[in-house]
Amino acid sequence: MEDVPLLNAGIGACLNSDGVVELDAGVMEGAALRAGGAACLRDVRHPIDLAVAVMQDGRHVLLAAEGASRFAREHGVEMADPGIFITDRKRQELMQGADTVGAVARDAEGHLAVAVSTGGINGKLPGRIGDSPIPGAGFYADDRFGAVCGTGQGEVFIRLGLARLMIVELQHGMEPAAVAQGAVDHLGKAMKAKGGVILMPRQGSPRAAFNTPAMPWAMAE
Ligand code: ASP
Repeated sequence: MEDVPLLNAGIGACLNSDGVVELDAGVMEGAALRAGGAACLRDVRHPIDLAVAVMQDGRHVLLAAEGASRFAREHGVEMADPGIFITDRKRQELMQGADTVGAVARDAEGHLAVAVSTGGINGKLPGRIGDSPIPGAGFYADDRFGAVCGTGQGEVFIRLGLARLMIVELQHGMEPAAVAQGAVDHLGKAMKAKGGVILMPRQGSPRAAFNTPAMPWAMAE
């Protein structure tokens, strides 16, 4: 999905106020709560690969900007000329954001995982980091309860700790569909914000909810 120019991730992502693409990504495994995030990247071809490398390295959870790029080079993660992320400057300038890409998964053994990648929000200040590389904000996975990812105004997801909050609600026995809908209602009511979430429970079908005009999502078995 980072290679599809229409989505707000990787190639074709939205532009910051300097007209530059800065990318964020995050990943988490629910078995041992391992997590990795990479933020404010200008020259990493697939930000999600770097998030995975940060998670596998295990020393830190979140790397940003130049230090993250250096780590990527040292760990054999593919780099890119920053220019390749801009395919249609006019369209990218007008992107509304909220097209972050995310995936939640459960394997045959019941292990959960989540991955998220984004260009953030259009016209953001250079150096701005959203919720997508931050565990507990834009994503979370815990095999005991579920895995979630979100899209929308990242600042609100960070302030609410929304992904982690959803996991706590699952832990307390709330129904997955009610947790997803409740998260979106909370965004709208408490923060007047728009967004959406996808939730993969420990058992049963995934759930999605959004208060944006649309949020395309798909499920595969
Ligand atoms: N959540 C992302 C961010 O604020 C934006 C999005 O979902 O499109 O960085």
